[in-house]
Amino acid sequence: MLKITLPDGSIREYEGAVTPLQVAQSISDGLARNTISAIVNGKQTEVETTITEDSTVQLLTWNDDMGKKAFWHSSAHLLAQAIMEFYPNAKLTIGPAIANGFYYDVDFGGEPLSEKDFEKLEKKILENAKKNSTFNLREVSKAEALKEYADNPFKTELIENLPDGEITFVTHDNFTDLCRGGHIPSTGIVKAVKILNAAGAYWRGDEKNPQLTRVYGISFPKQKELAEYLEKLEEAKRRDHRKLGKELGIFAFSEKVGAGLPLWLPKGAALRKKLENFLSEAQKKQGYEFVISPHIGAKELYVTSGHWDKYGADSFQPIKTPNEGEEFLLKPMNCPHHCEIYKAQQWSYKDLPKRYAEFGTVYRYEQSGELHGLTRVRGFTQDDAHLFCTPDQLLQEFEKVIDLVLYVFGSLGFADFTAQISLRDPDNREKYIGSDENWEKAENAIVTAAKAKGLKTVTEYGEAAFYGPKLDFMVKDALGRSWQLGTIQVDYNLPERFDLWYNGNDNEKHRPVMIHRAPFGSMERFIAILIENTAGDFPLWLSPEQFTILPISEKYADYAKKVSQLLENHDICGLIDDRNEKTGKKIRDAELKKLPFMLIVGENEESNGTISVRRRGEGDLGEMSVDAFITYFKQQAKPDFELGGNQ
Ligand SMILES: [Zn+2]
Ligand SMILES: [Zn+2]
Repeated sequence: MLKITLPDGSIREYEGAVTPLQVAQSISDGLARNTISAIVNGKQTEVETTITEDSTVQLLTWNDDMGKKAFWHSSAHLLAQAIMEFYPNAKLTIGPAIANGFYYDVDFGGEPLSEKDFEKLEKKILENAKKNSTFNLREVSKAEALKEYADNPFKTELIENLPDGEITFVTHDNFTDLCRGGHIPSTGIVKAVKILNAAGAYWRGDEKNPQLTRVYGISFPKQKELAEYLEKLEEAKRRDHRKLGKELGIFAFSEKVGAGLPLWLPKGAALRKKLENFLSEAQKKQGYEFVISPHIGAKELYVTSGHWDKYGADSFQPIKTPNEGEEFLLKPMNCPHHCEIYKAQQWSYKDLPKRYAEFGTVYRYEQSGELHGLTRVRGFTQDDAHLFCTPDQLLQEFEKVIDLVLYVFGSLGFADFTAQISLRDPDNREKYIGSDENWEKAENAIVTAAKAKGLKTVTEYGEAAFYGPKLDFMVKDALGRSWQLGTIQVDYNLPERFDLWYNGNDNEKHRPVMIHRAPFGSMERFIAILIENTAGDFPLWLSPEQFTILPISEKYADYAKKVSQLLENHDICGLIDDRNEKTGKKIRDAELKKLPFMLIVGENEESNGTISVRRRGEGDLGEMSVDAFITYFKQQAKPDFELGGNQ
């Protein structure tokens, strides 16, 4: 009897050898129809691969990420086949599946590929796919493989690095490629394909190597799914924070200031300030204290923290002074400064936890090719905080940090997220710093806190940092894209390196545990994601322009100014539209600019000391006193979310 264990732990028995497809058939016809790939004992295989011993089997459909991977990997073969039919002198290199689709790196040998060639490739791919060929894997000797690719230096290099006996070719239709497997049952299920882009890429990503053309594509089992995907891509382009950020006047870059160093324009600065205030208020409720540290620190500080050893060579180089040998570094992290803040005073166990918060600006040298709008920059501000507590306080502190993160996500409209718990590799415990006992405490604290707060979690063993376990939040935006935002990290390393201690109730010195946490991650990255998630239509409380006052003629300009000032005094910000235009047009323009409130002032309003209020999407709210409007506004303009576990 052959035992097959399925992911839910159930075991099915078979007379003899079996294929994943037969396993699927033994469960249901529907499942068999939809199974396009499988993972057998941890390795992705074809559905026809014979299983001869007891195994674990996971059946994959298009709805599984690994199923899509097989689908897109197989589509890359179809792309390579089509390319070779049109460009017989092209040299193929590698063609993997990626998060959305696949690519193939090709040396076209001086025949450039342009957008007008995409359509003929797409047609050819579908024409070939229709033949419904299977993918047939066969083992070849190294000598045979090298002979086959004698005129392709790229494949030759790949083959030379493979051990003899582990080299396989795969053939579908009339086309053969070097490949280790993991295909869909046949090409016929590829029903829609789009070539998205062709861009330069260096062989093996090294700019000393020859430049190749990376042809990107994506494919689907249904035409409708391709259409939906392309629509989503268009929407993502419309929402690109680099485009919207400029249109909305939020931020700018200047070559004179330097690449990757964002400039916050007044509206962007206002938005950022509101976010900082929002988080500061919540942090105050949770007992955080605010600290301030300088933008540079002596090199020695980062030698002590270990950052110099780890990142020094690849980052901004030390700042020299007229004093020989004196060196400072632009701050790459706030943590070392906060350790020294902790150390500036003596603490007893009764004083802990200490929770130091700072919107701390840090500088890291990203390669120019890596820079991307506000999401990858060289100077950015973390919504940083470091908590110093006793090992017994970890659980409670973790729960409170999770509360804070949930409050931030909830208030800002990120409802769909998962939390990744990163723990030690159980088989390799010696590579971690800190005692077993403390690690167990910390790991239990994270798992227990995540469970108590009802988080949707995935646990990854071996993903912890060497200095402590962590909890990372992955957020899905309005377009279903995944972003890593908040992070909470336990640290046993820095308290050791900085010799931090507190007096225990046994009157002995003890090491505190340190927690690093940043719910936003960084202000830059968070605002980029917020712009794309809301398409620039921010929640009222965050909007940098909350009203526009529309005087019906210039006679009421002074009254408009007076109203504006009254509102500004209550931190309600906006503008006055005193253009010589009809009020109707001004209202339409204000709606287009997504301004939440339109306040119309004329003779009646001035003599009654009132305003006529319109709200975007709701229409006329009638005439009211400025005070009544302020009260109404304040009710409306707050996050409709509660911070759990307030003190
Ligand atoms: Zn393949
Ligand atoms: Zn830190």
